[in-house]
Amino acid sequence: MIDTRPIQIKSHHLKRKAGVYERVSTPRQVEESVGSIAHQANQKEYPLRWGWRPDQIDLYLGDLGVSASGGVSRPDWQRLLRDIANGEVGAVFSSDHSRLSRLAATFETLLEVCCANDTLLVIDGVIVNPNDPNDRFMARIRANFAEFENAHRTDRMRKARLAKAKEGYPVSRPPIGYIAMQKGKGRHWIKDPNPQVRQRILEIFSQYELLGSLRKVLMWLREHDLKLPSHARGAGELQWKNPSHLAIYGILTNPAYCGLYRYGRTECWPTGARGKARPVPKERWIVKPGLHSGYITVAAWNRIQERLRSNRIMDNNQPGGSGNALCQGRVTCGACERRLQTRYPARRSDKSGRKKYVCWGANAQYGEPKCIQIDGDILDALVAREVLRAFAPTDVETILLAADDMNAGYTALQRQREDELERARSRAQLLKAHVLQVDPSKRLATAELHKDLDEALVQVQELERRNREQPLTPPLRPTREVIEEIRQLAADLPNLWADPATTNEHRRRLVRLAVRQIRVISISPTSWEVDIAWASGAVTRNALLRPWAWRAAARELAAQGLTAASIAEALTRRGFKTREDSPVTARLVQCFLFRSQTGHPAQLKSARRSNAGADLWL
Ligand SMILES: [Zn+2]
Repeated sequence: MIDTRPIQIKSHHLKRKAGVYERVSTPRQVEESVGSIAHQANQKEYPLRWGWRPDQIDLYLGDLGVSASGGVSRPDWQRLLRDIANGEVGAVFSSDHSRLSRLAATFETLLEVCCANDTLLVIDGVIVNPNDPNDRFMARIRANFAEFENAHRTDRMRKARLAKAKEGYPVSRPPIGYIAMQKGKGRHWIKDPNPQVRQRILEIFSQYELLGSLRKVLMWLREHDLKLPSHARGAGELQWKNPSHLAIYGILTNPAYCGLYRYGRTECWPTGARGKARPVPKERWIVKPGLHSGYITVAAWNRIQERLRSNRIMDNNQPGGSGNALCQGRVTCGACERRLQTRYPARRSDKSGRKKYVCWGANAQYGEPKCIQIDGDILDALVAREVLRAFAPTDVETILLAADDMNAGYTALQRQREDELERARSRAQLLKAHVLQVDPSKRLATAELHKDLDEALVQVQELERRNREQPLTPPLRPTREVIEEIRQLAADLPNLWADPATTNEHRRRLVRLAVRQIRVISISPTSWEVDIAWASGAVTRNALLRPWAWRAAARELAAQGLTAASIAEALTRRGFKTREDSPVTARLVQCFLFRSQTGHPAQLKSARRSNAGADLWL
């Protein structure tokens, strides 16, 4: 049946195909707005009514679930433009301007292509002839208006969400372990009623506190074949997934689990269709404590974050390279907290043959001056001395005490296994009692219960089998002989360290065992401060004189009119040494003063007489 066809549709339009383009922005909208999609699908009724044959109608519906905000590829949109440009399309049908594009500029492209190929636009039954200046003008106004309206609506919704969050109603999706419930004016979060979900969340936190490493928690979950709960996107159905590093990290670092609600960490900028998510400064976040009950205390959560942070520092330390730098990968800059790089002397330019630890800091990124540069040999010597001191025999006792810590971990794991078995057993018993109580005539209920009981019994068997076949290995308790051996080794360590047969690789490994981080701060032109953070958690502070520090001091003393000999004596008394770790001699002072022309004329004269070689201070 052909309706009264609008006069703009000519026979040459009918000879070409009718393109129906529709789209819904997000996958969630696809699920929720079934009505809207049905309305959009109805658009194909128009071409049928106006004389196109059913086989001439081409549906461009591949972009369902794709936003038209620009920057996102819409394959069917591209196909439509191509087909129009090829002169295959007589008219394009859509339910709304915003379906075609959220941006007026993109709509303009469509308008241009349609204009060039004499293709009509039909927006919800209203014909737009792009070749009619009047129609084109109106279409542009509508597209611009649609863009403005869309931006305005998103902004209004965003502000409403922010206001709601400020009032203390959570507006975002709850993380796993919580569900959102409607209460009074808004939603609120409660703990998931599913005991298994709650149990798993608690286990992740308690295991991390016990094992102290994300990887160990992951291995623990895998070893016990435990899955992680997760909500499917959109519909929110509960799923059990294999544990992953990322998922565990996400749970451990989410403050929602200690009862803290956070909102507004990112925003869309510029607002409207062209916007992209950008981070919001921390002071503008909405942070509401106590909106929902936590799984752990705030103190415990903070403790876990601290642990994660310090582990990250350790993980980030790449194993040392093949060079001879002892502290490679462990030294950080006290000024900018970046890692210092080891720089070995270039063969030609640097004749000193000495390595350096350098903080390129802001230099690499912003071209600012280098942050810190410290003589590698001097720092290595200090660290070696400190490490040997840390491994001194008295401290071995402390290392042995650590064995007790390992035992504590073993006991906790063992207890966990027992608890798990106990829980499974009591569940089976409970179900058994239920089965006996239930009226045998209610078949459906009995069948369900029997099924649950069977599952529970299988679980008990599985756990019993695991405990029998894969028992936990108890940590070794060092025997008297082993303790004695370790003590002996520790006493021998200084000799072993100096032994030419010991490679740098071995020395570096020892440093990495004991030292977590070395932080260098430049405190004055003559000295550095070196903080050593030990694996045990302790931090020791050391002062380190710069290799050329004696020069500045010598200059000062010379200005007071002292002779080279007394300057050298004073420097030695104050602990200054040359870069080669030898005492500063009178001759060296003389040469330096001569070179820098800061000395007394008499000193300079005697220096000239002694005809000092320039190589002395190079
Ligand atoms: Zn720096």
